Amino acid sequence: MNLNDPIFTDEAKARAYFEAIRWPNGPFCPHCGEAEKVYRLEGKSTRPGLFHCNGCSGQFTVTTGGVMESSKIPLTKWALGFRLYAASKKGFSAHQLHRMLGITYKSAWFMAHRIREAMAPLESAAPLGGAGKVIEADETELSPSKKSKPRARSQNKGFVSLVERGGHVRSVVIDGANTAEIKAAILRHVHPESTLHTDGAPAYRYSGLPHPFGYMAKHEAVDHNKTYVRKGETGIVHTNTAEGYFSIFKRGLVGTYQHIGEQHLPRYLAEFDFRQNNRARLGVNDEARTERAIKGAEGKRLTYRQPHAA
Ligand SMILES: [Zn+2]
Repeated sequence: MNLNDPIFTDEAKARAYFEAIRWPNGPFCPHCGEAEKVYRLEGKSTRPGLFHCNGCSGQFTVTTGGVMESSKIPLTKWALGFRLYAASKKGFSAHQLHRMLGITYKSAWFMAHRIREAMAPLESAAPLGGAGKVIEADETELSPSKKSKPRARSQNKGFVSLVERGGHVRSVVIDGANTAEIKAAILRHVHPESTLHTDGAPAYRYSGLPHPFGYMAKHEAVDHNKTYVRKGETGIVHTNTAEGYFSIFKRGLVGTYQHIGEQHLPRYLAEFDFRQNNRARLGVNDEARTERAIKGAEGKRLTYRQPHAA
């Protein structure tokens, strides 16, 4: 990773970098959509990067209406933060970010979660797979942190990852190995013409219905008590891609994040999914991955309270 790029040290260059990513065809007003009658305000008393819109008489900057809105952290540090999270395969802790950027731990925590929010898929994201595509579905449970109260195993949080072979992954938080939640995740996020490969866990078994997932085109399971790979009607049946993905996530969890607050699990999954979906093997390098994350900052609704003084 090249940290000598001036966008990490020169605030004007950092601003130009964010503006070029957000507005490749010129600025437009995030309040009303006006693209013609917008003017950059200049002069000593004006804060840098401010635009005026003649359409709605509103004002905006490159951070308006995105995850960086109302942050007091310089854009040079945001640029570095985005780069670190986009390029670190096992994640990057808020403690490290706090030390590296010279900002408070609270600000670093805030920045890290905003960056994850930018990396999260849109609600409207298309389902994975399609005709001729194989989706592996597999679920894992997370053991609760030592700090949290002991409770029944069935209440542990976990997640199901839906992995298109050679393609994208989407991970969804579930309660333990809750069958209904696993099925709902598959029905919502997998294209019905896909072929589904799973292990023999009860959640994936035929349940008296003509098909366990109602309308999914094909489903084959491999019984892990017997073997991990078998030749089936739909090709080689296995869930090794999904298991490989879990191991990246678990290394990150153990090495970088220690334990994850349950309420934040969806954002950590979004972070790991994002890097996987924009991986080098799919032709996305660190710079391009960072730009995609920054692009995702736009228009994200903030779903949790912002810690003040960040
Ligand atoms: Zn406007």
